[in-house]
Amino acid sequence: MTIVLELQRTIRDVPDFPKPGIMFKDITPVLMNADLFGRTLDALAEPWKNEKVDAIVAIESRGFLFGAGLAERLSKSLVLVRKKGKLPYSTISQSYALEYGEATLELHTDALQKGHRVLIVDDLLATGGTADATAKLVGRQGAIVAGFQFVIELGFLDGGKRLGPTSRALVRY
Ligand code: AMP
Repeated sequence: MTIVLELQRTIRDVPDFPKPGIMFKDITPVLMNADLFGRTLDALAEPWKNEKVDAIVAIESRGFLFGAGLAERLSKSLVLVRKKGKLPYSTISQSYALEYGEATLELHTDALQKGHRVLIVDDLLATGGTADATAKLVGRQGAIVAGFQFVIELGFLDGGKRLGPTSRALVRY
């Protein structure tokens, strides 16, 4: 069985979470299977092995799980993008629109260096708003977005188009 098929069979669909009409893609069954989780990290790392990447930027909170594994696999530094108020040191902030209202992400001011090439990692790409706000934070630090890596992409929401050709996902719905 391919890793993609295995992931499709293991990722759990939870209807109407966190609110009616949303089909939540629950990756916790993947984490519970140590062998599958390890091979998922291998598959996430594979396309980036020969790319010039200086840092992995992981998005809170499920992005941390995959971003940490990817940073370890690729021997790159791991940088955290967190929701407002969670990072302890001095930060820059970026707000973005949600379906209802607004959210803010933050990055430590010393996390990236000018000209550094970064790979942005999250568990799932939906509209691309979260990843796009993260890319803005990276750009404001003078760093360059080498690409985006997700475990899951909800293709019908066109987030991939918004982020461009450097966006990859293992599983597409
Ligand atoms: P977006 O900014 O619309 O691309 O949404 C992506 C973020 O929201 C990611 O951090 C995901 O973890 C989370 N997310 C959005 N939709 C879902 C979904 N259907 N299942 C699980 N997580 C989701």
